[in-house]
Order: sequence, then C-alpha cells, then structure tokens
Amino acid sequence: MSTFQDLGLNDDLLQAITDLGFTKPSEVQEKAIPILLNSETDLVALAQTGTGKTAAFGFPMLQKIDVNSRTTQGVILSPTRELCLQITNEMKLYGKYCKGLNVVAVYGGASITDQAREIKRGAQIIVATPGRMKDMINRRLVDISKIQYSVLDEADEMLNMGFKEDITDILSHTPTDKSTWLFSATMPREVASIAKNFMHNPQEITVGNKNESTSQVSHEYYLVNARDRYQALKRLADANPDIFSVIFCRTKRDTQKVAERLIEDGYSAGALHGDLSQNQRDLVMKSFRNKQIQMLVATDVAARGIDVDDVTHVINYQLPDEIETYTHRSGRTGRAGKTGVSMVIVSKSEVRKIKSIERIIKKQFTKKEIPNGMEICEVQLMSLANKVHNTEVNHDIDAYLGDINTLFEDTSKEELIKKFFSVEFTRFYNYYQKALDLNISTSNDDHKDSGNSVRYFINVGKKDGFDWMSLKDFLKEVLELGQDDVFKVEAKDTFSFFNTEKEQQEKILSFFTDYKYNGRFVNVEVSEKRRGGGRRDRNRGRRRDDRRSGSGSNSGNKGGRRSDNKSKSRRSNKSGDFASSRPRRSRR
Ligand code: ADP
Ligand code: MG
Repeated sequence: MSTFQDLGLNDDLLQAITDLGFTKPSEVQEKAIPILLNSETDLVALAQTGTGKTAAFGFPMLQKIDVNSRTTQGVILSPTRELCLQITNEMKLYGKYCKGLNVVAVYGGASITDQAREIKRGAQIIVATPGRMKDMINRRLVDISKIQYSVLDEADEMLNMGFKEDITDILSHTPTDKSTWLFSATMPREVASIAKNFMHNPQEITVGNKNESTSQVSHEYYLVNARDRYQALKRLADANPDIFSVIFCRTKRDTQKVAERLIEDGYSAGALHGDLSQNQRDLVMKSFRNKQIQMLVATDVAARGIDVDDVTHVINYQLPDEIETYTHRSGRTGRAGKTGVSMVIVSKSEVRKIKSIERIIKKQFTKKEIPNGMEICEVQLMSLANKVHNTEVNHDIDAYLGDINTLFEDTSKEELIKKFFSVEFTRFYNYYQKALDLNISTSNDDHKDSGNSVRYFINVGKKDGFDWMSLKDFLKEVLELGQDDVFKVEAKDTFSFFNTEKEQQEKILSFFTDYKYNGRFVNVEVSEKRRGGGRRDRNRGRRRDDRRSGSGSNSGNKGGRRSDNKSKSRRSNKSGDFASSRPRRSRR
C-alpha cells in the first residue's frame, strides 16, 4: 500500500492533499498517478463513479504543467456544466499551493466574453463542456494548439450525449504529440472506438470489474403497475423518513412533473434538468447540497457526476433507456465509504431488464414489496419517537413551559405520550388507512382472462419445491390440460393459487379428491380470495361442502363471489385517490 508521497507527488500537492484530509490514494489514483507522472503516454482508465478519478488525472496534470507560463497546457472535457464546475473547483483545491496557477471553467449558459477574458489572463488549464469549447475555438477565443494534455472525463457519458463530433473537432485543434487521458465508468463500444482512433498505444487500467457498480450499494426492485409508479415512490419516501435521495426519470418532462407533484404533496423536493435556467439549476443544487431538499428529481444528463456525499437512496422512477446508465445512477449513492440503496420501480413489461442490469453490475437485485400503509405509520411513528428522544432541549421554550404545564397538570406521562404521538400518527394513519396494496405478483403469465374463470386454492407451494412455473407445469401434466388452460398461477410458501376457465372446474375438483403428492393429500378448493394478499377465506369449510354436494359447473361461483383479478383492477384504480389528501410533512 503506497502513500501519496510514494506516488511521486511534489510538496505543493502533498500539502494540499493533507489539507483536504486525503490519507491514502484510492486504487485508481495509485494506478494512474505513477504512470502519468513518469511517462508521456495515452491512458484509458476505467473506474466506477466515486473512486477519485478527478485527482487521478488532476494531480499529475498539476505537477506536469508549467505554472510560470501563461500558455494553455491542459484541457479537460467533461459532459455537463455541473461536472465542469466541480472539476474546476477540485483542481483549484488540489493546486492551491501551485503559485500562479489559473484554472478556468468554460461551459454554456454563462457569458462567453467573461470566460474568454479569464482565459486571456493566462489559463494553464481549461475545464470545458464540449459544446462551449467548440464555440470558443470557432470564435478564436481560445488557443489550444500548444496543449500537452487532454482529458476526456466521463467519456462514456459525453458520447452518450452525442458529443462525439464536438470532441473530434476539438481534438483536431490540438497537437498530435499531446497525451490523451480518457476516464470512464464504463467501456461501451463507442468509447473503445475513441480510444482506438484518437489515442496511441494507450496504457490501460481498470479498477474493479469493468462496469461493476460500487460495492457499498445494495440493489432493490419493486414491481408495480405502471400507473401506480408515483404512489409507490411516495410510499418508498414515507417508509424512509430520513431519506436524502436522487430520483431519476427518463425525460425532462417527467422529471419536472414528478418534482412538482412531490412538492404539492408536501415533500421537500426539487427538479434538475436541462430545461431549467442555469440560475435555477444552481439554486436547486445548492439547496440539495445543504440538505434543504430531501429528494432531487433529475435527468441522467443533469445529474451526471454530481458529487454529493451522504445520498442514502437512489430511486429509479423509470429505468434508463441505456442499461449501462444504471451504473452511473446507482453510483450517486454509497459514496465516500458509506452504504446506499439503489431502488428501481418497475412495471411488469420492464422486469426483464433487471436481469440484464444484474449481468452488467454483476450483482443481484432483491425483490422487495412496496410497504403497506400500516408499515409506514409504524416507521414514521418510531422515527418521531427517536427524534424526540434524541432532541436537545431548547431552553428558549422555558418561558412558555408554565402555561403548558398548567394545561397538562392532570395528564399522566403515559397519557401525554399517547396524545403527543397520536398527533403525528393520526396524520399518516388517516392518509394511509384506506391505502391499498400496490404490489403486483410476478407469478402471473399473460393469459387474457375471459372474465369467466375460476380461482383455486391448492395446499402445495414453495415449501414443496414449486414456483409458479413448475406448479403450472405440474397442473397441466396431472390434469392433462393444454398450454393456456392454467393461468394466474401464484405460488406462496405453503399454498398456491391458480385459475382455469369455469368449464374445467368440475374436472379439477374431482381429480384432486384423492391425489397424493409426496405422500400428502393435495387439497384444491375454489378460492374466495379477494385482495390478492394470499389470505384464505374464513368460510373455507362451508365452500368445501358446497362443492361436494353441488358439483355443478357453477357451484364455485355462487353467492356474489368475485374473481380476484376483477377486484384487483378495481383496487389499482382506486389507489391513485389519496394524492390530494396526503398530510404535509413537518419541516425539518
Ligand atoms: P469520480 O470522478 O471517480 O466519480 P471524484 O473524483 O469526484 O470521483 O471523487 C469522489 C470524492 O472522493 C470527492 O469528494 C473527492 O474529494 C474524494 N476523494 C478523492 N480521492 C480521495 C482520497 N484519496 N481519499 C479520500 N477522498 C478522496
Ligand atoms: Mg468524476
């Protein structure tokens, strides 16, 4: 294990590093810095977000440039304005003891003449977004014909955003014998082709597995109907009272919409996307960094590379179009050695994408259930109780304590606690008491229900080694049924459910009167299950008698029974009704 000193960095940098509190180099720094210091070479470095890439190219560049010269010697290209400012800021911190150093940020949306003026004063290093850089070259406001080092930071994202032509154009104005250092979290084909076409025998370093996401992040997904996405998001937020999160949407429009709805519903949320003015974006980012905003709703582009520590949750409100982008998203949490959770809200049609992501990140997702109303009430209540318990008394209230004490003179401690917590609990309780289950089962295949089907309960399940597919196969086989005759198979622990058309009912019930599986009688009954929660009907015994005596084709569906798929869709329609009645969150 080496120190920054061992890597060959000079005293000016070492002093700044001490000031920053960096104690030892990160892996990508340990690998890249000696190579870049000791040779003039091209480099391709692949490392996840949050691994310290800025310093990996920043330190060597600062050490190698001549601060006594006013010529521009290094150009760092990065995909967004936010990232550009962040890198500039870091470079200034790293180089604070390099006397005469001038690092200038160049990006769209701000005055080009101001930026040109700054460069004219002598910028040894320019950090730029490709669009603005190209603009400045065309207007001859910048001269990069003598640079020795060019950095392509977040190369994959720059290409993703369609900057390939701009980058090519910019590089064509630079000397051929300069060194190019490419940093990227992932290595899609386009990045490989840049390396091939613009670089000469680049050295390569890889930190961790290619495309692997950070190990401190756990990955979860929640399966809901597409129309319940927003409700699911709110529940995830409510179930995590101390959430500090980035929520990703696919489009600017959705980003704006989700943020607005959250704000209306009383959450501290903000939107970050490219349609906002620079000023608005800066304000949102500032509030987020100060934690005045708990939920930052962002597009991939706008949030790229944003380096805010302590993000507890990344929520994928929608999955990205490019699966690789998932790595960047989840890299917003679990930074600086902390743990984080990356949650994905998926609809059924997207669930297969989870498998592809697992292959890319080489990690497993956990399928989780959207918490129900009572679970959320409990979490909120306990969170409040802990907060009260840990609160330091503010003695400015002393003046009012007399009156308050008089008011509660006859109230016991037990009673007071009950009342106090009921204030908060009732808010959530009133909101959530009617809230319904948002989860949908993965087990269902896509059978078109005629509306004339029967749902059955069967007393075998996962404990007997069945999942929905194997149970379906088993039923088809023993009952000699066709491919589509058994559907909506749902395997629970000790029991399961399935549907058939009503015509099959008699055959099925009579078959299972004396069928044994693994030495145990298999019991099949018509289910009255309504809510999809897997609870068996209380009157099961009675139904059983119906069946025995009635055995007619309708016996299973007497007495106003409803097949659960019908009640399910009713349920889902209803679950959007609570948006307006949600309680305002108390200000933190
Ligand atoms: P990346 O570009 O790989 O996503 P950054 O360069 O933005 O990562 O670094 C992430 C965070 O880690 C920054 O806050 C940076 O200051 C910090 N950091 C970088 N190197 C070190 C180090 N050696 N020790 C401690 N913190 C570091
Ligand atoms: Mg970076």
